[in-house]
Amino acid sequence: MDSVARPVPAAASGETLSAAEDIRLPLQFINDLAASQSMADIPAIVACWFRSIFEADRTSITLIDTDTHLKLIALEGNDAIPRDTPIPIAGTMVGRVFSTAQAEWCNDLARSADLDAQMLASHGILSCLDVPLFSGNQCFGTINVGRTICNAFDSGDERRLSAMAHFIAALMHIHRQADCLQQLADRDPLTDTLNRRAFIEHFKAIGTSGRGHGVALIDLDHFKAINDRFGHDVGDRVLVQVGQLLHGVCRKGDLIARFGGEEFLIAVQDIDALDFHALLERLLQRMRAMPVETGQGMIPVTASIGAVCVAPPEPAFDEIYSRADAALYRAKSLGRNRIEFAPAAM
Ligand code: GH3
Ligand code: MG
Ligand code: MG
Repeated sequence: MDSVARPVPAAASGETLSAAEDIRLPLQFINDLAASQSMADIPAIVACWFRSIFEADRTSITLIDTDTHLKLIALEGNDAIPRDTPIPIAGTMVGRVFSTAQAEWCNDLARSADLDAQMLASHGILSCLDVPLFSGNQCFGTINVGRTICNAFDSGDERRLSAMAHFIAALMHIHRQADCLQQLADRDPLTDTLNRRAFIEHFKAIGTSGRGHGVALIDLDHFKAINDRFGHDVGDRVLVQVGQLLHGVCRKGDLIARFGGEEFLIAVQDIDALDFHALLERLLQRMRAMPVETGQGMIPVTASIGAVCVAPPEPAFDEIYSRADAALYRAKSLGRNRIEFAPAAM
């Protein structure tokens, strides 16, 4: 049984809420928030809608970036402090709100000594209300609204914005946890490449475009002997280095997976057979030159590669894989340390 005491929601406890404590939310805002797919979607939605909900001339969100700085990651309206600006935690109002997790408002920014207040005032923002983004005992940023008039905010605004910030922080926290779980579910922790299931899922989702795909199955040669001679740790290090090499030769958007123990699968987008062959040659050359320290000197690492070029209309993944596997088998039988292409499909 869960023994942690939970706060009773005000409505359920019979307490009545005064009209002054209400907040009206546009339906489209709720719809946009509900449609957000990851943590990264939320700040822009919030900055955009909070501008009209709080009748602000400027809304922004900061998130913790380093030990000493926040980063302004979403902005709507007046760009006195532009997006992506690192904001020092020391000497700023927003930094104080972050580190104390206490909301603050200032109704005459021109008279404040805080660095952010001065920057805002010099661009015509004269009042500002900052509230912490706080969830799970952790403050991870702030939501800020600003007006071009003095004396714009009072304690009612603070309570409304704080309540919304609390709700948004909870949503961001849940999204962040889901993003982390997705990352854990999709990746091979040793080599930081996709795992088999995630590769197949992504491969099916992207489809073939442009010149088609190059798909290659890369199997390290005599890997068992490396483990047997130098130990599992050296074997692991080889796998990590091969993962890094693959990231080096592939582009953003290409798929790289550890498909089995010492077997990798890559899918390179929009590439023809000639360029794909050149890319795989480059990979093998870099692998042969890859420095692997064993404690007993350097050892060479080689791989055998079975490659397939896929043009639209794309065959099913299982067929592509079995053609790559057959080509790999041929590369192994022909002496290893080489690339074999599957014959073009009829
Ligand atoms: P071939 O040239 O025919 O591919 O021979 P091979 O030795 O590379 O292939 P084999 O399938 O006989 O052996 C694969 C080895 O990979 C056996 C297994 O212990 C090792 N292996 C699988 N996963 C890991 C891992 O995560 N770390 C380490 N160090 N070794 C692993
Ligand atoms: Mg193998
Ligand atoms: Mg092998």
